[in-house]
Formats: sequence, C-alpha cells, structure tokens
Amino acid sequence: MENAAELKDKLFNKKESIFNNISDEELDRSAAYAETYKVFMDYSKTEREAVRYSVMLCEENGYVQYNFGDKLEVGGKYYYNNRGKELIVFKIGEESPENGIFISAAHIDSPRLDIKPTPLYEDSGMGFLKTHYYGGIKKYQWTTIPLALHGVVIKKDGETVDICIGEDEDDPVFYVDDLLIHLSKDQMQKPLGEAIPAESLNILIGSEPYHSEKTDEAIKLNLLKILDSKYGICEADFLSAELTAVPAYKARDIGLDRSFIGAYGHDDRVCAYPAITALFDSTNENKTVMVILADKEEVGSGGVSGMQSKIFTDLIDEIAAARNANPRKVRSASKCLSADVTAAFDPNFAEVYEKRNSSMVNCGAALCKYTGSRGKSGTSDASAETVAYVRKLLDDAGVVWQLAELGKTDQGGGGTVAIYIANQNIETIDIGVPVLSMHAPYEVVSKLDLYMTYKAFLAFNN
Ligand code: MN
Ligand code: MN
Repeated sequence: MENAAELKDKLFNKKESIFNNISDEELDRSAAYAETYKVFMDYSKTEREAVRYSVMLCEENGYVQYNFGDKLEVGGKYYYNNRGKELIVFKIGEESPENGIFISAAHIDSPRLDIKPTPLYEDSGMGFLKTHYYGGIKKYQWTTIPLALHGVVIKKDGETVDICIGEDEDDPVFYVDDLLIHLSKDQMQKPLGEAIPAESLNILIGSEPYHSEKTDEAIKLNLLKILDSKYGICEADFLSAELTAVPAYKARDIGLDRSFIGAYGHDDRVCAYPAITALFDSTNENKTVMVILADKEEVGSGGVSGMQSKIFTDLIDEIAAARNANPRKVRSASKCLSADVTAAFDPNFAEVYEKRNSSMVNCGAALCKYTGSRGKSGTSDASAETVAYVRKLLDDAGVVWQLAELGKTDQGGGGTVAIYIANQNIETIDIGVPVLSMHAPYEVVSKLDLYMTYKAFLAFNN
C-alpha cells in the first residue's frame, strides 16, 4: 500500500499561495516589478494615455512606428498606433509566420464617467457637467470621491487640446455628490442599482458667477471664460471632445505588508502592462510575437479601435505578405492569450462564488477556459487541447497559475475579447490577474499575481 501523503501528492491537484514556495530574490523581483507598474498606472488613466505611455516604452525598447505599406523585416520591432487609442506591438521572428504568431491581447479602456456632448449647466448656484457612464459601474461607488478630468478636445480646425486636471497636488479635483444620510429615508429603501440614477451623476465644477456685470447663467459663463483663457475652448468644442472623469487617486500599496496594489483601472491595464513588458523582455528571435492593447472592451469591443475592428487581421495579413506566407495558414497556426482580469474570490461576499472553481489571491495567473453567462453564452470556450498546451508551457517555465471561473454559474458573468480573436480562427484562451472590487473606482490586485502573469506572457513569447 502506498502512503496516503505520497498518493495525495501524486494524484491531487494543488492550489496554494505563491508565498509558500517563493524565494526571497523572486519576491524582490515581484516588488520591483510592481513599482514600475504603479508608474504606468499613474500615467495611463485613459486608453489614449495608456497608448502614449506604451509608445514611449516601445521606443525605449527599440520598437519603431509602422504604417501600412512600410517594409517589414525579419528581426524588426514595430508598433502600430491605431488613432491614439489602440496599440499593436510586434516583432518579426526568423521562422515563417505559418508556424503561428504568438498574440497577447489586453484592453486599456476602463469604466468611468464620460462627459456628455452638451454637458455644462448651472442650477441653484452651482455649475455642473452632465455625464454618461462608460462600461459597467455600480453608480453609487462614483459619488463623493475626488475625480480628475482627462481627455482631448478637438477644435473645429483640427487642433487637439489635451486636458488633464486633478492629478497634480495643486490641481483642483471634481466631485459627484450624494444625498446626506439624514434625508435618505426613501433612497435607503431602493435597490443599489436604482439609488443613484444615471442622470444624477453630475460633476460639480464650480459656483462663482461672472460678476463684472449682471447676467443670467453667470456661473456657466464664468466657467466657460476660465476654459477659454486656459485652453481656448468654447461650449461648442465639447461636441467634438472625449472628456472623461476618472478617480483622482494614485496607484498605491495596500496593506501593512504591501502585498496588494490599489489603483483605478487595473481592469485591464494590469494585464496590458505585463503583456507589453513581456514582449520587450522576450528573447526568442524565432517567433513572431504580437501584443494588442485594445480599446472599447468595456462597451463590447466595437468600433475602429475595438477588438472587433479589422485592424489586427490586416496587420497579420501584412506580416504574412512580407514573409510570403499564406495569411490563412498564419491565423490557423497562431495562438492567443486573451489577457483580462478575473474575479478574485472575496470572503466578504463568499455567497456569489463557487469556491472550488474561483481564483484566489496570491495563487497566480488565472486561466479561464471559458467566460460568458447563463450557461456559457457569449464565450469562445478554449479547447482542452489549448488548455493542455498552456498548462505545460506554464509548468515548464515555473509560472504559478490557477484555472478559474468568474463566480457561481447563475450569478451573472462576463466576457472578454477572447471570442473576437477566436472568431478569426486563432486558438485563444483567457488568462489574467485576479481582481478584488472589479470596476470599482479603486480596485485591488496582488503583486505576486501581477508578477506571475508577467512571467506567463514571457513564457508564451519565449
Ligand atoms: Mn477586462
Ligand atoms: Mn471590465
């Protein structure tokens, strides 16, 4: 008879904290990696800012801008900047791309409060901006927190005005108010989803009237005068703008032991950053590797900068053409890690999770075979063969990982860009960092899970 402990070791699938086995050197590397990630986060609160920062990283790492029609060379390192809102970074390996392109795809848009086209008004002595929320939010979480205004205004003559107010210590911040508890008898009886109506998410931006002469809408006038003197914009310029209110918080360590990071927009920049840095750090010269940092995932991946856009298959076609390869063969041999966050098991809300199939913090990069809702609806469901390929890849590279679902089967669900890539005949599987409080203004991830996700992408590229 075999000893039970040995038999368990041989037969049981173990999931345990990375802390149980990690060396001090590896722990230090993970802490150092987290520091660079926090800087990326502070400069990347919108998709445009994430592209700008990532382009800077690309150029530091020897990647050059590619435009359709440019020559692509073996050993070349390129980035394609799609309208400043999506970035596709790739390096051409020596092997034929008919052996497959190794793609990692994350998204760089996050839930937020977008400013409406006609936003500015005054009421009861206060100036406000109307908002239209972007992505899935619990509206009550976006009240009574400091907000920063980010984005661009494109003037009628095409001039771009960059706006970022609320990030410097000396900047003012903005605010959405909530009802005081003393008068909330009715509000407190409402379901969470109804307590804060979307049309009450109005941003307080001032109260001082234009007072050199008496006029109506004097507060609005004064606010426009400030915008005109500082940025040269008028009310109609809001029509051709993309302005958004995001939490004015910086990324910070959380916990006495600093094992967590709190930040706005971990979903999904906590996968975007490891994906792109793992491309820079990859050393395999044979493989063709691509990283996609897509926009619009939070609203369905549509549009020219979303994952459903033709842009990435166009780029694959260009790479194929440059290497005299058949693009259909290239796609069918390619593999993709759809890099997106998943829900970390939260003991404070244990009832919505199915613990045996949930990702746990500090247990590594979380693979998801399938996502979707109500019986896997809307998923691409990676094949068992693809899961086996990734299992071996990660185990061989010493990456700590776990395989998880989002929560209880009928508790809700979610989707990722995986389906849009898989639809192009590319084997795709989801992998990412487990997150606490996903889509809240301030989300939490573990440093070790972030680091293991980076190592997972690196193993895939190498
Ligand atoms: Mn996501
Ligand atoms: Mn999301």
